Amino acid sequence: MGNSKSNRKSGSVAAGGAPDEPAWKSRPMPPSDGMGGAGPLKYSVVVPFYNEEDVVENLYRRIVRVMRHEGAPYEMIFVNDGSKDSTAAVLERIALADERVTFVDLRRNFGQTTAIQAGFDQARGEIIIAMDGDLQHDPYEIPLFIKKIDEGYDIASGWRIRRGDNLLLRRLPSRTANWLLAKVSGVKLHDFGTTFKAYRREVLEGVRLYGDMHRFVPALCARLGAKIVEVPIKNVRRKAGRSNYGISRTFRVALDILMLRFITGYLTRPLHFFGKWSLGCGLIGAGILVFGLCRKLAAAFEHRKFDLFGVHGPLMALGFMLLVIAMLFLATGLIGELLMRIYFESTQARTYAVRRLVRKGSAQGNG
Ligand code: UDP
Ligand code: MG
Repeated sequence: MGNSKSNRKSGSVAAGGAPDEPAWKSRPMPPSDGMGGAGPLKYSVVVPFYNEEDVVENLYRRIVRVMRHEGAPYEMIFVNDGSKDSTAAVLERIALADERVTFVDLRRNFGQTTAIQAGFDQARGEIIIAMDGDLQHDPYEIPLFIKKIDEGYDIASGWRIRRGDNLLLRRLPSRTANWLLAKVSGVKLHDFGTTFKAYRREVLEGVRLYGDMHRFVPALCARLGAKIVEVPIKNVRRKAGRSNYGISRTFRVALDILMLRFITGYLTRPLHFFGKWSLGCGLIGAGILVFGLCRKLAAAFEHRKFDLFGVHGPLMALGFMLLVIAMLFLATGLIGELLMRIYFESTQARTYAVRRLVRKGSAQGNG
């Protein structure tokens, strides 16, 4: 995903390969730098598992049953996120019996977002479908997502219209977070939280997931101009195992929203973000000090003793403090500018995203 140049190259090679043996059958390990290059595979279903031994088989069978009707080659990428039960063993058995399954066994529990990213890195399909492995997402709804992508959308995002979750602990915080996220990101989604989503491969090549950021992929992609649509889904109550999250997630989401605001608004111009605050603090601070100076000078003209710090001590302290804060903001902004340049140049990330290039004699899409 990181290096789209090499992906494109390997993609076109695979597509032009031997016609009698589809490239996905020989299952070469995709290069670790990216999502492996789009071969003839149409769909990749990516699922992270953490202690889901009771439902793995069932989920797998359902995916197979529904994908059969799509009539195009597909693969399943099952990621074991360091489960402590027998999830890994079950997944391994499935992968050894079915060549469409890639089993990614992570060394320890890295968290849902990272597990999904690990799956994306192995995915080779043109359309990538992500879903939970606890059967709260019903594989039978996958075709709804595929239909939206076929209609021309870049991301189809699940929208849990009726949630089988606790009102106070899950649904209320979630609704607040969604409202905030929509405000902050400018992306009008009802439900950011669900991982049940389908992506056109190219849009994922532009983002990498850190922390708990899988929730914000639509917002991050919208920054690059992706077309997004919501798909109403049911979200059934967990039947087996238990949720890996509680109320503490709310605070992490709040911090992530802050980060998102920064990324979507100011990633390429951090100085504008910090500069604004620096200027504000600097002006108020300077104003206070100038006021103090005037008082002192006025007293000097009248040959009168004036104890500035005795009279305006707290105010003067505030003035100095604001000036120092202004300098800190300025320095942070300047460092941010440097980091931003290093980031874009060292990762060859682009500050823009091209949908299509048209030149006489060639036409190609680009992530
Ligand atoms: N998950 C994971 N690693 C973790 C936590 C969760 O891979 O550290 C997986 C989990 O197996 C499930 C999905 O992420 O497939 C969603 O987790 P969960 O059901 O606990 O979240 P909820 O549905 O309650 O939001
Ligand atoms: Mg769940």
